[in-house]
Amino acid sequence: MSQLLCLVCKDEITVDQDATTGEIVECSSCGQEHEVHAAADVITVELAPEIEETWGE
Ligand SMILES: [Zn+2]
Repeated sequence: MSQLLCLVCKDEITVDQDATTGEIVECSSCGQEHEVHAAADVITVELAPEIEETWGE
C-alpha cells in the first residue's frame, strides 16, 4: 500500500502497491478520482480526466 495525498483536499488516499498505470482511485474524502501512474516502485497519481455526462443544469 502507498499513502498518497489527494491533489484536491490533501487528505490521504491509499493505493495498492501493485496498482497499475491507468487505474483509478477515488479520494474517500472529496470523491475526486485520480489516475495511477506506476513506474518501478514509485507510484504517483494525477487527476483523472473528468467525464461529465451532464453539461449545465
Ligand atoms: Zn480529496
